[in-house]
Amino acid sequence: MNEKNRLTPNPKLKLWAPKVRPERIWQLYQNDARGTIDEVLVHDVGIALYQRCESLLLVTSGRVTCPTCGTIFQTSWLGGRPEAVNQCPSCQWTITNGQYHATWRHQDLRAGNAEVAFRSYVEAYPRARSSRERTLLIDQLIHAFHIDLKSRAPNRSAANNLIEGSHARVVAMLDRLADDARGAPDRSDATSTWLATTEAMWKRRSGSSEAPRSTRPAVRKSGLGSGDQSPR
Ligand SMILES: [Zn+2]
Repeated sequence: MNEKNRLTPNPKLKLWAPKVRPERIWQLYQNDARGTIDEVLVHDVGIALYQRCESLLLVTSGRVTCPTCGTIFQTSWLGGRPEAVNQCPSCQWTITNGQYHATWRHQDLRAGNAEVAFRSYVEAYPRARSSRERTLLIDQLIHAFHIDLKSRAPNRSAANNLIEGSHARVVAMLDRLADDARGAPDRSDATSTWLATTEAMWKRRSGSSEAPRSTRPAVRKSGLGSGDQSPR
């Protein structure tokens, strides 16, 4: 290959959609509670989550979108040697498996046992015709869980793959939103079952240094900090 045309990716190459800022999710729910719809916000959050889910599905299957020409192709990362080179089938861009790994490690980009939730969202979102439909899909997605295959019990919140912040912090925000929605006439099924499901999840995870069950009521009561209305 002509060295001049070989594009060597640096490890900080941005190939993947970032997580969504919690403030945006928070705002979306505040609007919903007030009965106002900010169509632009719903669309922005919806698309950002769509792109994040796409990234999750690509990484999980060992694929990548060529940053030069946009072709999606399969790498040999899954089972391949780190130094093995993957070349885009449509252009000269290449990336080794090791470089590929460096672009997504420690970024919560493995779909794990929540893959079905990410996939469902990617399939359904483009078909949604109204802000209401989009909001419901967003709601369903961010309240999904990584489900343990053996016990069918919740292991982890899928929102941790989608929203900035630690797992405990993201769950605390969704707890607060679910608490606020108690008694609301049109709260979704996902919100209704959220608190019971996270209770079961913390029970399973007790002993975890992240957020032992014994500290959880305090987290919930004080919400996201000092009672302010911001998720940070
Ligand atoms: Zn290409």
